[in-house]
Amino acid sequence: MGPQQDRPTANANGGASGAAEATRKEQESKAVVRYMQCQRNHAARTGGHAVDGCREFMASGPEGAAALVCAACECHRSFHRRVVGEASADCDFPAPPTPPAAGDRR
Ligand SMILES: [Zn+2]
Repeated sequence: MGPQQDRPTANANGGASGAAEATRKEQESKAVVRYMQCQRNHAARTGGHAVDGCREFMASGPEGAAALVCAACECHRSFHRRVVGEASADCDFPAPPTPPAAGDRR
């Protein structure tokens, strides 16, 4: 009797929910984070201001808790000024005693 085959396409205004969240990817994977001058105030107890003069954070160890402690001033890494920059040709980073090209995954 009534074949329902005559449908107008009125459902063309949907399906755009939750698909715009995929725009935020790991864009900071190229940024290099370095920790420069130590800013820990060693004279905070006496009300003064004195830093230890550490110029750049150098990890005490390759990983673990030692990697968060500066080998020069023994302060935690968070005390050092955080600098985020692009990867440059500056190869001043202390290389760990492991052969390079160990984790090159793309
Ligand atoms: Zn320090």
